[in-house]
Amino acid sequence: MKHITYLDHAATSWPKPQSVVDAVVHALTEAGGNPGRSAHTIALAASRLILEARTDVAALLGVRDPRDLAFVPGCTAGLNLALKGLLRPGDRVVVGSTEHNAVARPLHALEAAGVRVDVVHGDSAGRIDPDDVERALAQAPTRAVVCQHASNVLGTIQPVGDLADIAHEAGAYLIVDGAQGVGHLKLDLTALGADAYAASGHKGLLGPQGVGALYLAPGVEAVELTQGGGGSNSEEAVQPTARPDRYEAGTPNTPGIAGLGAAARFLLAEGDAIRAEERRLTRMLYEQLLEIPGLRVLGPPLGEERVPVLCVVHDRVEADRIAFELDSRYGVAVRAGLHCAPWAHATAGTAECGALRFGIGFGITESDIDLAVRAMHEVCA
Ligand code: PLP
Repeated sequence: MKHITYLDHAATSWPKPQSVVDAVVHALTEAGGNPGRSAHTIALAASRLILEARTDVAALLGVRDPRDLAFVPGCTAGLNLALKGLLRPGDRVVVGSTEHNAVARPLHALEAAGVRVDVVHGDSAGRIDPDDVERALAQAPTRAVVCQHASNVLGTIQPVGDLADIAHEAGAYLIVDGAQGVGHLKLDLTALGADAYAASGHKGLLGPQGVGALYLAPGVEAVELTQGGGGSNSEEAVQPTARPDRYEAGTPNTPGIAGLGAAARFLLAEGDAIRAEERRLTRMLYEQLLEIPGLRVLGPPLGEERVPVLCVVHDRVEADRIAFELDSRYGVAVRAGLHCAPWAHATAGTAECGALRFGIGFGITESDIDLAVRAMHEVCA
C-alpha cells in the first residue's frame, strides 16, 4: 500500500494503537465464546473482556458506576436510544443549531410523532450562548436540551456543563452528542452533569468501528429500543430493568468492545500527551492554512479552544476537487462535502458548497502537516 498521510480522524481514527489491534485478535482467538451466556472457559473469558472494558471505559470517561455505561453500536445508536427512549409525543426539546444528522434525523422522526423541536441558534462559529438556551426554556415546558459537545465541522466546543445546570434548573434533561468530544477532551462525565452522553468508540477514543457507549446518569431511565436475550432473568417475558442488561439485548460486539477497552487503557496512560500534541498540530495547521490565498477556515478563530477539526473553503477551487487531488497526487486523506452535518454548514454559510475537512489525531506528525500544507498550496495555486 502506498504511504497515506491520514488526516481524516474526525471521520474515524486510523491507524489504531497496536494494543487495540491485539485486543481484537485476542478476543477472536482466545475469548470467542458468547459472553454472559454459557459458563465454559471460553465464554467466561469473553465475559471477563467485557467487564474489564466497561470498567476501563468508565474510568476514562469519569463514570463512577460502570453499569451506567451501555455498549452500543456507535454514537448514532446511543443518540437514538437516548432520544427515542426519553422523549414522548407532546414533549418539547430545545436543540443546538450545528447538530449532526445523528441528532437531526432522529429528532425529525420524533417531530413527525408529535415531539416539538425548537432550535437555538449559535453564532457563525456555532457557539451556543447559554443565556439563549435559558430564554428558550423559559418559553414552554421542556423535556430535554440536546446539544453536541463539539462540532465535527466547526470544531466548536459547546459549554455543556453550563447547559446541564440550565436544563436541570428548568426540569429538563441534557442529552449530549459526544462523538467529537470523547478522546479529544478530558472528560469527567459525572461532574459534567449530562443526563445522557453518547460516545463514538472509533474516533478520538481510538477503538474499532461498530462500537460506542451510552452513559445514562443514575436515575435516568430511557425506555430500551430493543428487547431480547441477555443471559439473565431468562424465565421472564419482560426485558430486565437492571443496567446495563436493559440496553444490551442480543450478543454483543465482543471483539469491538475488547478493542475499545484496550483503547481506553491506552488513553488512560497516554491521553494527556496525545491531546497536547493534537492541540499543537491543529494550531500549526491552522496558522499555515491561513497563509494560502483564497482559503477560509471555518469555526472559532486561531487561538480559541477547539477540537482538532479544521474545515476550509477556497474561493475558487471546490472542496471535492481538492480532496481528490490531495489523495491521488499526494496520498493525503481528508474529507470533503457536508460531513453529515448540513445544519453546521448552514451556520457557516457553506451549505451549498460544503467544505474540506482536516481531522487531526493520534499518530500524526509535523511532517504530515508539512506535506498537507505543501499539497494545499500547489492544488489551490
Ligand atoms: N455526531 C457527530 C458530531 C459526529 O461527528 C458523528 C460521526 O461522524 C456522529 C455523531 C456519529 O457517530 P458514529 O459514527 O459513532 O455513529
